[in-house]
Order: sequence, then C-alpha cells, then structure tokens
Amino acid sequence: MIRHVKTARLSQGDQTDPAVTEAVEELLAQVADGGDKAVRELSIRFDGLDRDSYRLTEAEIAACIDGLTRQERHDLDFAQEQIRNFAQAQRDTMLDLEVETLPGVVLGHRNVPVQNVGCYVPGGKYPLLASAHMTVLTAKVAGCGRVITCAPPFKGKIAEKIVAAQALAGADEIYCLGGVQAIAAMGLGTESIEPVDMLAGPGNAYVAEAKRMLFGRVGIDLFAGPTETLVIADDTVDGEICATDLLGQAEHGANSPAVMITNSEKLARDTLAQIDRLLAILPTAEIARKAWEDYGEIILCDTLDEMVAEGDRVASEHVQVMTADPDYFLNNMTNYGALFLGARTNVAFGDKVIGTNHTLPTLRAARYTGGLWVGKFLKTCTYQKVLTDEASAMIGAYASRLCHMEGFVGHAEQANIRVRRYGKRNVGY
Ligand code: NAD
Repeated sequence: MIRHVKTARLSQGDQTDPAVTEAVEELLAQVADGGDKAVRELSIRFDGLDRDSYRLTEAEIAACIDGLTRQERHDLDFAQEQIRNFAQAQRDTMLDLEVETLPGVVLGHRNVPVQNVGCYVPGGKYPLLASAHMTVLTAKVAGCGRVITCAPPFKGKIAEKIVAAQALAGADEIYCLGGVQAIAAMGLGTESIEPVDMLAGPGNAYVAEAKRMLFGRVGIDLFAGPTETLVIADDTVDGEICATDLLGQAEHGANSPAVMITNSEKLARDTLAQIDRLLAILPTAEIARKAWEDYGEIILCDTLDEMVAEGDRVASEHVQVMTADPDYFLNNMTNYGALFLGARTNVAFGDKVIGTNHTLPTLRAARYTGGLWVGKFLKTCTYQKVLTDEASAMIGAYASRLCHMEGFVGHAEQANIRVRRYGKRNVGY
C-alpha cells in the first residue's frame, strides 16, 4: 500500500505558469522585431548589462582563462576530460549502417552532426559552469560545426568561470547573454548573430519555455527546466544522507521538487528530522526550504514493485537509489533522466564531474526522452541505392501497386517508368 509521510503543497503540473508563457511570447516577439537593439534593451532590463556587443572578445576570453587559479584550471580540465571521454565512448556507438536487404537493394544511414548549435549555460542564481561542458563539449564531440554559447552575466558582470569553461570546451563564439533574449538571439538570429539550427542546454522556466516555443523553427535538445530529484532508499542508509541528497537539489530553486520513496517508515521519519536540522544550518536554506515545503514529498511503499511503479510515475530528472540492491531499479525502472546507483555516488557527482551529462528531462519528460548526449546532436539520415535492373523492376512493381491502393497516380508513374525501363515490361495490377 502507498501512503504519504509528507505531501507536496503544489504539484509538478503547477509549474507550467501561464504568466511565464505570456511573458516569453512577448519577449520573443520583441527580439524577432527589434534584433540587436531589443536584445540590448532586455539585457539591461533583466541582467543590468549594457554593451555595444554581447560577443566576448578574444582578449576577454583569454583574461577569463588566465584568471583561473591552478587548482581551478586542474579541476575544470579533469571534469571536461571525464565528460569528453564518456561522450566519445557514446559517439563510438553511433555507427553508420549499410545493409543489402534484398539482392541489389542497399539501405543505409549516416549519423550527420547538426552544423549550427546554440548552447545555453544558466547563470542567474549560480554560475553553472558545468553546463558549458555538458552542452558545448558534447556538441563538439558529436562533430557539430559552429557551436556558439550564451550565459547571463552573474551579478551584473561577465561570469568569468563560465566563460573559461565555455572556451575550454571549444565554443566558437561566446556571448554574455541570458534568459529569453539569449535563446531568441541564437534561435532567431539578429543583425550580429547568425541563427543556429538547434538549441541545447538547461535553464529556468523562462529559458525552457523560450526553447519550447521556438521548437519547429529550430531543433531543441529536450525540455530541461527547473531541476528535480527523487531519492529511493531503504534502511540500508540513514536519514542524514537522504536529507542531504534531497536538500542538495532543492537548493537549485524554489520550484525544484525533491521527492523520496522508501519502504521504511523509520527512515522516512528520520529523514524528516534531518531535513529540519539541515535547514537550520544550510546557507542556501531559504530557497531549499521553500522548495521542500511546496514540492517536497515522502512516499511510503510496502514492496519494491510499488517503489518502482511510484518512481516511474514521478519520472524525475534525477533518481538517487540507495537500497540493498540498486540494480533492481536499473533493471526495472523505465522513467528517469539519470540513475545514481548506490550510496557511494550522488547527483552532485553527475552534475559536475563524473562524466555523464547533467542536462536532463524535467516535468515528466523522462517518460519519452533521456538526457542530452552526443546522439541528440546527430541526425540519423537514411539513404538507399538499387544496384541492379532486376531489383529496380521488382521493387517498382510493388511500389506501383501500393501507390495505386492510395490513389497516388503520379507516385505510381515514378515506379512504372522504372519497371518499363529497367524491367522491360509493364506493371500488372
Ligand atoms: P538562467 O540562466 O536559466 O536564467 C537567468 C535569466 O532569466 C536571466 O538572465 C534573465 O534574463 C531571465 N529572467 C529572470 N527573471 C525573469 C523575468 N521575470 N522575466 C523574464 N526573464 C527573466 O539561471 P537561473 O534562473 O539560475 O536558473 C537556472 C535553472 O537551470 C534552474 O532552474 C536549474 O534548476 C536549472 N537546471 C536544469 C538542469 C536540467 O538538466 N534540467 C540542469 C542544470 C540547471
């Protein structure tokens, strides 16, 4: 039986705020009409940054890299190496294919990189430099041609560490732009910014909504909005580690759900007590408390099957599994952005350094997509060849009859002409 030890005041669905949709629509229209001038106005209004050009110069970029301490540079290089290595291993699985399916009939596909990509690196509340590795570097490993990137200023100034990470990841153009104006500038283009073919990267509700609205005009990676986390635990762990993992993600934003599923009432109570204790000392408690009060949930289940079913229903971006047999959830769960299996790892490892991508589906998009990876930057494009006259006439006869069943006379004639030329006969119906 499934019971709640703590219920959420708001549901995930409440996060789709019509006011955000309305605002984003208006801001996109402003950039579409006003180009660079509108981008500048919005940057001043939302981020307090006024520049003639929001593209950073080589000198500014070099200064950001030079400003890193030795330790910071070492840590950034280490993180980027892990992300590059895993992305390359994934790229190596994306094989082109060519197969002869019938005598003389050759079918294939090529994984073709998207040529123009715009990567968003969030930086309103925290300078999320890890998103630079996750987006720019992954696009580069995929083989994308031009990869440009935007991040907002942090507290009114260029977010230097983000810029360093963007440059080290291989970005071709770096802009100090945030929010809807950044997404619009990259997606629609302006007088000074060539538009991209695809937008990638996480962001707040405004950024996610802007990407959603531009989808179709440009490609997008996925719906990667405000962070969510799910902890699945049994009494092999204690309340302190569960509370730490819940609040460690709730600090992302007041609209970041943190949910726990357990089969131990004792652990549920212990976790609640530890959350109270940690909220009294966590420096980011103001945000985390609001997120926990509004969206926090603790769900008590009797069986592992119930825990899997509840986990799939929640379909969270991050799922931290700390049970006697974490692989049970790997083998049985179907809806999650990323799994963190066992108490030795955790979401922060994945967010920052371990090598898997942290741009992950939110708002239950995990029902139909995984997170960002090299495959998202590749178009699997098919091709076909017919090598012999016999194969052309044979397939042509089938095609002609099937076209007739649909009433497509012109299509049928494309087939008929080939049956006549290469098969030296007419199609019989
Ligand atoms: P952000 O860069 O996404 O957004 C900051 C921008 O929002 C500002 O530059 C500003 O232009 C715009 N903005 C702010 N208030 C606005 C308003 N009232 N109207 C219009 N525009 C406005 O940075 P953030 O706000 O710190 O959010 C980062 C988000 O990214 C968090 O919600 C975090 O959870 C999420 N995130 C998600 C993933 C994922 O994979 N799903 C990964 C990392 C981060």
